[in-house]
Amino acid sequence: MTKSLQGKIAVITGGNSGIGLAIAKRFVADGATVFISGRRKEQLDKAVSEIGANSIAVQADVSKIEDIKHLFEVVKSSKAFKGKIDILIANAGTGGFSPLGETSEQSYENVFDINVKGVIFTVEEALPLLGNGSSVILTSSIAAFKGLQGSAIYGASKAAVRSLARSWTADLKGKGIRVNVVSPGPIDTPMFAQVGEETTEMIRQMIPLGRIGEPEEAANVYAFLASDESSFLTGADIQVDGGLAQL
Ligand code: NAD
Repeated sequence: MTKSLQGKIAVITGGNSGIGLAIAKRFVADGATVFISGRRKEQLDKAVSEIGANSIAVQADVSKIEDIKHLFEVVKSSKAFKGKIDILIANAGTGGFSPLGETSEQSYENVFDINVKGVIFTVEEALPLLGNGSSVILTSSIAAFKGLQGSAIYGASKAAVRSLARSWTADLKGKGIRVNVVSPGPIDTPMFAQVGEETTEMIRQMIPLGRIGEPEEAANVYAFLASDESSFLTGADIQVDGGLAQL
């Protein structure tokens, strides 16, 4: 039986950890070749050794346009590249706790430079390499549409991501390029671990499904949006959150 992503080329920013790493593993298992980018070389090397064959690491900071250009130059000049990026996952992101009255200019810039500017220029720079049939998937968060204490700046940055997808869906009319969003709820990754055990337990009790999600459960949703199974979906936003956003 043919695998669902057989022969596809995927680029995953933040593919060296958490959700991005789980996506990379799943895509390779489904037959794709993946380019993963991240800031830290050590973490990238470790990720590639875990993912195995058909994974290529590129060190690139998404808050720097030069680094993003470098990422796509590497993709374009690689032997695996056959003229088109089939799947682009703008997933790299950062958290940040910013209770009202305590937001610094630096923390605001850090969150928006990575979560908004990073997503904008990942897609802008990839555009010449996308084509009919390409699937673009952006990582937002349930913090985009749910009031969570201390999450105003992060939530605003992720709301911007959802808005970008809506406008890009319109901009790409007639081009056959789909743009969808995944909005994870609490998923067990290094980023989520930063909230600490006490907060994790409090959040767990709020979730209708009664537990924190696994990165692989998020990756399943990306695999669906990347594949032809979702061929008539564009501009959609899928929440993978155990029902948390419904409360
Ligand atoms: P993680 O910390 O494991 O992964 C974050 C990834 O982003 C890492 O690979 C990191 O290298 C990369 N990254 C961060 N800053 C970067 C930069 N400047 N340039 C390039 N890469 C950079 O966390 P995760 O939970 O897997 O996060 C992945 C995405 O999911 C993020 O966009 C995050 O906001 C979103 N998200 C996560 C959760 C959750 O509960 N885990 C919930 C909602 C949304």
